[in-house]
Amino acid sequence: MKPLHVIGGGLAGSEAAWQIAQAGVPVIVHEMRPVRETPVHKTDGLAELVCSNSFRSDDAENNAVGLLHAELRDADSVIMAAADRHQVPAGGALAVDRDGFSAAVTEALAAHPLVTVQRGEIDGLPPEDWGDTIIATGPLTSPALADGIRSLTGEDALAFFDAIAPIIHFDSIDLDKAWFQSRYDKPGPGGTGKDYLNCPMSKEEYETFIDALLAAEKTVFREWELDTPYFDGCLPIEVMAERGRETLRHGPMKPVGLTNAHKPTEKPYAVVQLRRDNALGTLYNMVGFQTKLVYGEQARVFRLIPGLEDARFARLGGLHRNTYLNSPTLLDPVLRLKARPQLRFAGQITGCEGYVESASIGLLAGRFAAADRLGRTQPAPPPTTAMGALLGHITGGHVVGHDEGAPRSFQPMNVNFGLFPPMEAPKVDGEGKRITGSARGAAKKRLMTARARADYARWLQGA
Ligand code: FAD
Repeated sequence: MKPLHVIGGGLAGSEAAWQIAQAGVPVIVHEMRPVRETPVHKTDGLAELVCSNSFRSDDAENNAVGLLHAELRDADSVIMAAADRHQVPAGGALAVDRDGFSAAVTEALAAHPLVTVQRGEIDGLPPEDWGDTIIATGPLTSPALADGIRSLTGEDALAFFDAIAPIIHFDSIDLDKAWFQSRYDKPGPGGTGKDYLNCPMSKEEYETFIDALLAAEKTVFREWELDTPYFDGCLPIEVMAERGRETLRHGPMKPVGLTNAHKPTEKPYAVVQLRRDNALGTLYNMVGFQTKLVYGEQARVFRLIPGLEDARFARLGGLHRNTYLNSPTLLDPVLRLKARPQLRFAGQITGCEGYVESASIGLLAGRFAAADRLGRTQPAPPPTTAMGALLGHITGGHVVGHDEGAPRSFQPMNVNFGLFPPMEAPKVDGEGKRITGSARGAAKKRLMTARARADYARWLQGA
């Protein structure tokens, strides 16, 4: 049988190739490392984890990514098998020994009689005579292939910076200066009206802060990042400050709807807000403070903010490039490029975010491609399942971050319950007792995961 081709041996490409081979179809994986490097990968292993070693929560009952783990395991995922075998202790999360994990995936594919791994960059669109091909080249797709994709789609494959705001340990924030309050005391979903920590600034403090921000050393963009436009929804704060000294005061540092609990009669000139970053309430992130200042400068400049003089940073801010397609417009419901259906896309380049999500879209692309080759029909998983919800986000086009007058934007996303068809939260428990507050939210998640598990089992059986 003529082989299928998979370009990219990352999380998505490895999973896609495994699924194809397990369906009895030969497959060739084209991985450019070590012949050509990416700016972040460090090894020549397949499925290399470029940053954290965590696959996040493994709780399939209460957490959407945990549910995705369960769905992957049920479908014979090579990524989950390797992760389970190389797990390291991490509480409720699934964390792995990154080298052991990558080696296990590499060995599993190398040992499969229907898989061939070829090393070398595919430096343009794949030749037409390859036939069906999956492109799974990730957020750092090589420029030559990215150009090829752009030329074909006629619409830009988007590129933007993922912008990360710093996170601070709660016990290092001075509560004699900062106070708890949500803007206009609005509680928000599951909130109390006191969900943010606020750090006030006088005019003088604001001016000093802006001067320091503008003068601080910034990360120098590498050559491969220079032609990447900023994503307008999450500009680095120093770029906002460069646009005008007052810009931040009308953006993330606006003082409206807040009253300084320590000095109620004094109106702050600007306010920095921090939002709880973990369930324990031990970490707070600086809202809207994504930045490309170098690390040492971040600590120095942000400690000028009243209340944060002694701040300890759990994580400093950062930016990284992420290349992805405008999938809702460009792809059909089974991940084929409408302009050239022989090409299918998988992984982060489709607009999902994260290791587990990328592997999941790889699994689906592999199954769809193998079914096509075998002349079978492979329906998409129902939208009530984690995989179906994620696929719906990519191909159905949920539109978020859509400002008045701005072009519509499709943003990469981790799997989350907001992508699932909604369900009514239960009002009473099994014993007829009323459920209230956060317990209702938790009960609703359990209903959604139970529905997902049942629907997924039916889908898998049909497949
Ligand atoms: P990748 O895993 O990147 O695999 C793509 C593969 O394609 C690579 O092996 C590459 O060498 C190869 N390739 C590229 N172009 C070509 C070509 N032309 N020819 C042949 N081969 C090619 N996600 C998390 O869940 N947690 C994190 O902590 C995290 N941190 C990140 C940090 C950075 C700096 C970046 C860029 C991303 C991070 N991500 C993180 C996202 C993460 O990259 C993805 O979630 C995941 O690796 C994407 O899987 P993928 O298979 O789509 O791409």
